[in-house]
Amino acid sequence: MPEKNRPLRFAIIGAGMAGILSAIRLRELGLDEFTVYEKADRLGGTWRDNTYPGLTCDVPSPLYSYSFAPNPEWSRHYSPGGEIQSYLEGVAREHGVERFMRFGEEVVSARFDDGRWQLESASGHRDTADVVIAATGVLHRPRLPALEGLDTFRGAVFHSARWDHSVALDGTRFGLIGTGSTGVQIVSALVDRVARLSLFQRTAQWIMPLENPSYSEEEKAAWRKEPARAVELHRNLGELFSVFSNAIVDADSERMKAVEQMCLDNLENNVHDPILRERLRPNYRAGCKRLVISPDFYAAIQRPHAELVNEAITRVEPEGVRTADGRLHPLDVLVLATGFQTDAFMRPMQITGRGGRTLAEEWRLRPSAYLSISIPEFPNLFMLNGPNGPVGNFSLIEVAELQLGYILQLAARLRSGEAREICSTREALDTFEAARTEAARTTIWMTGCKSWYLDDRGVPASWPWPFSHFIDEMRAPRPDAFELR
Ligand code: NAP
Repeated sequence: MPEKNRPLRFAIIGAGMAGILSAIRLRELGLDEFTVYEKADRLGGTWRDNTYPGLTCDVPSPLYSYSFAPNPEWSRHYSPGGEIQSYLEGVAREHGVERFMRFGEEVVSARFDDGRWQLESASGHRDTADVVIAATGVLHRPRLPALEGLDTFRGAVFHSARWDHSVALDGTRFGLIGTGSTGVQIVSALVDRVARLSLFQRTAQWIMPLENPSYSEEEKAAWRKEPARAVELHRNLGELFSVFSNAIVDADSERMKAVEQMCLDNLENNVHDPILRERLRPNYRAGCKRLVISPDFYAAIQRPHAELVNEAITRVEPEGVRTADGRLHPLDVLVLATGFQTDAFMRPMQITGRGGRTLAEEWRLRPSAYLSISIPEFPNLFMLNGPNGPVGNFSLIEVAELQLGYILQLAARLRSGEAREICSTREALDTFEAARTEAARTTIWMTGCKSWYLDDRGVPASWPWPFSHFIDEMRAPRPDAFELR
């Protein structure tokens, strides 16, 4: 006899954007039996960790918002990181979910035992849950460069996601490694404060010069009065952004060519010295790496006291950075904007599924999950923004909302008593992965560059189809893709 409305206890891991979302949705459904575990002492995830000067989200703010919490107070089209952090804190407060969060509690292991998940935290706290939602994020474990002598540097050195605000920057000789979205934003923000800026570039980037206008008081007042307008703006921007996300999955599309032309015009028209222009010119197609958006990077790097260094770094010395031409670049501060370990997901958490199978075994080759959500033999464990889902210059909030809607449909089947254990079948995952790998061939990410989108085989660890296809998949789980026990 199925047990109707079986009470379920949920454990949510991570109190970032996706963990907050999960908590709010569970409460809305009246499912108050849950705890959000967070290793840090505050919520916010990537927006808590990243506080570097110039941090701005390059997804339009009305789109980088929860669909149920439009925010008429965004100051700009692309909001500063601090505003997003405040927004997340405000939404969590308004929805009363902070009290479900246990801070400073890092889950170190989760074991599926006798139909339930047994969790343990670093402090020794234990919990039992029917369903685990892993909302552990993608860009949160800093990747430090393996540079000889890094620990001998006498100045201040830190990763961009661990900004040391006690270090004075004004008037310093400032060095920065990395020219991704982060590095470019830091250069623009700091160039006029430091005495000398050396940007160590390993690979040139295509730069899309989008301006970042402020919202006027009239616009904000109108949204406050009529929140429906903000919702409409959200939808319209979503459609606009899907144009871009559709372009990148079709490398030969006219739209992709238009994006490339904009980046090329930016380089040709705004970098005046032909030698510098060539050093800034990427040798791969625009969009192959994540497109960097900046209206002022080229102006910043052409300031007289700024230098683009594209000789390879040979080592770090107590006084600064030595490059392959033998030159020492003396520095007071060295920032590592060198990105993240993007294939970590829930790891290093020890996760053991059915029959003692570990996640380390399951992901021995590389991370994978059916539709980026479910792993065979790991029942009732679901991921938000897991491996191979949609990434790109668009809103991961929208992705998480769609995925959570899907996960809650699966959880409803556990509640109804239809099943006690649900996970994707091995066949569903294999079929999905084969189709995904095949479709990835025609995406812009495979046109010949190195990026964090590519896995160890050089296959994009991403959703290679139009975003509309993802929306369709998220409408309802396919019955044959899941094993119910
Ligand atoms: P990233 O895109 O991975 O860029 C890392 C940079 O560091 C690259 O230029 C890389 O060079 C360089 N690098 C890494 N190791 C190096 C080494 N050993 N020596 C020299 N250079 C090295 O990291 P990120 O800029 O932090 O951005 C990560 C992601 O965060 C972005 O793709 C985006 O999704 C997100 N993000 C978004 C925003 C935004 O919304 N505006 C802002 C920041 C970050 P190579 O190119 O040669 O590998």
